[in-house]
Amino acid sequence: MTDGVTGLIKRVGDLAPAARGGGRALHRPLLVLWAVGQAVQGHGEHRWSTVRDALTPLLMAYTGAPAGAQSVVYPFWALRNNDLWEVAEVEGLQLTSGGRRPTLSTLNEADPLAGLPKDDFDLLSRDTELAARIASSVLLRFFDPVPTGLLDAVGLEELLVGRVDTSLRPRVGEPFTNRDTIANAYGGNRVLGITPLADGILTVYSDDKGPYADKRIDGTDWIAYTGDGLSGDQQMRGGNKSMQRYQTEQRALRYWHKPHRGQWTFETWAVIVECHRRWGRGEDGQMRREYAWVLAPVASPLSDAWPQHIIDALNDDDGHVHDHTQDTPIEETEEAETLSERDRYRRLAAAAGRTASNRSERSRRSEVDRYFRSPAAREAVLLRSGGTCENPRCLGHPTELTDAGAPILEVDHVNELGNGGDDTPESMIALCPNCHALKTRGRNRRHLRATLLSIARQRHHAFARDAL
Ligand SMILES: [Zn+2]
Repeated sequence: MTDGVTGLIKRVGDLAPAARGGGRALHRPLLVLWAVGQAVQGHGEHRWSTVRDALTPLLMAYTGAPAGAQSVVYPFWALRNNDLWEVAEVEGLQLTSGGRRPTLSTLNEADPLAGLPKDDFDLLSRDTELAARIASSVLLRFFDPVPTGLLDAVGLEELLVGRVDTSLRPRVGEPFTNRDTIANAYGGNRVLGITPLADGILTVYSDDKGPYADKRIDGTDWIAYTGDGLSGDQQMRGGNKSMQRYQTEQRALRYWHKPHRGQWTFETWAVIVECHRRWGRGEDGQMRREYAWVLAPVASPLSDAWPQHIIDALNDDDGHVHDHTQDTPIEETEEAETLSERDRYRRLAAAAGRTASNRSERSRRSEVDRYFRSPAAREAVLLRSGGTCENPRCLGHPTELTDAGAPILEVDHVNELGNGGDDTPESMIALCPNCHALKTRGRNRRHLRATLLSIARQRHHAFARDAL
């Protein structure tokens, strides 16, 4: 891949039309599509009058622009600022009173030549796969679902019909050793978790070794994806703002995943079906509010290929953040100082109880809700444990702490959830890794479970009662 290709993809990917009225002003993306279609057919330079006559009806039909040649002036002039368009002999053109662009009459009179930069044209006219890839990314970002007749109108029907999604790069399943090799091949930031590739399509990265537990939500194939921000309350800006925009616009993003010791893989396209705010532990070990998005995998990024249950989920989403940080007060900063540990325990247990009693209906949505709210039960058990294994016959809890300064404890359901275990503190227990292994794999696990269940109940009642 030459710099020319990377640069061209990035310049197209950087196209960011301003929001206008009810939608976005798509004049420039449409001119790019038309120019790519022309390049594929070997046409690189165009008189203003040619562009004007071709674009006037297209802008009306596909961007809702008013009738008339005036609407072509804007993209014809402004696309130059994206380094994707050149106009010859601009010195002689008379500008509007604001000086922002030439007048329609001066363009009609001078009829200047214009077109893609020469190097870009050479690349696109020689490499139809590149042309398909670039045009597809523009279609996905700005014209999804692709309107009837658009491909034909911009001269891309033959190249792209039925293969907009498969023309995009990277392909699903492509593995990479690290973020640098991804960036070298497809551009984009090398560090951020939520960031577009060079083609402008949003991409999220999930590293099993990283600070966040992004995972599949039980009972669904949906993914809980934690937002940007390592410590302190996460804010709705940067990557989180991009996620919110994709959620509102119902657009597909790329989900990359790296299993522990594995490779980065573009695992699936996904759409955002919900946004939650929950308590989590930051990199500094402190509790904080974080955003989490529910991603639903889809086989194709094109919305007309999505299955009905995804469409339903998108339509059900009101776009509001489901805030679980009010319902499950884990560590309200001011209150934490005045509340005793036992008062906090009672509040967490109550929040966990409300969640558990709400889940009679085992729909996908209630699974999601439970997934986000169950941290209350977990936090309560940790509080109750005082930082040591709750197994009374523990042979030795490790004294070392985690990187985050937390005790090495696993909070576990005494009976697995599938076997009727509840997501409430009285049926959960904090165990050191040794005791956890005994409970899951030990020969006497059946007996141990019975003991642990009664211990959990005793400790729960003792803790809750003492709080009164
Ligand atoms: Zn133990």
